Amino acid sequence: MPSGRVHACLTVLAAGGILTAGSLVDLPTPTVIAMTSGCLAGLLITPDLDVDVPVNSHAVVRRHAGLLPWLAWRLLWLPYAKTIPHRHWLSHAPVIGTLIRVAYMSAVIWLILTLLGIPFPWHSPPGWTGWALSGLMIADAVHWAADLWYSSVRRAVRRFIRLAGG
Ligand SMILES: [Zn+2]
Repeated sequence: MPSGRVHACLTVLAAGGILTAGSLVDLPTPTVIAMTSGCLAGLLITPDLDVDVPVNSHAVVRRHAGLLPWLAWRLLWLPYAKTIPHRHWLSHAPVIGTLIRVAYMSAVIWLILTLLGIPFPWHSPPGWTGWALSGLMIADAVHWAADLWYSSVRRAVRRFIRLAGG
């Protein structure tokens, strides 16, 4: 798979693409901001959280938020990483992978809020939620396409080396 940094660069490029396309087709500014933010959330809520070791997402949290948030982020995603094999369709397939990750995060947040006695806003999600979710889906689709492209190039190189070697 491409490195976490390559995926991060592609996610930022996709966010730039959303920003540019949103301006070109004259989408309302709050919609463009929500989609772009959702796409950038893909830097943290990446399909590669299915890896059983710390990934770029964890490094970003540690670098920008510190040790305790890093530990919380690592513990939050550990059951997910232990349950779903790396690059499985449950984590990497466009749309379904995003929905599963968001559902997982929502369930954990619901559990924490419930333990704190705070009601979870199931019935009144903010209006931008759908646009942010679609931005995250775009980031995940770009991630999936990069993984697919990288795998096919690697297979082609191996085939070429095998043929060239005899
Ligand atoms: Zn991946």
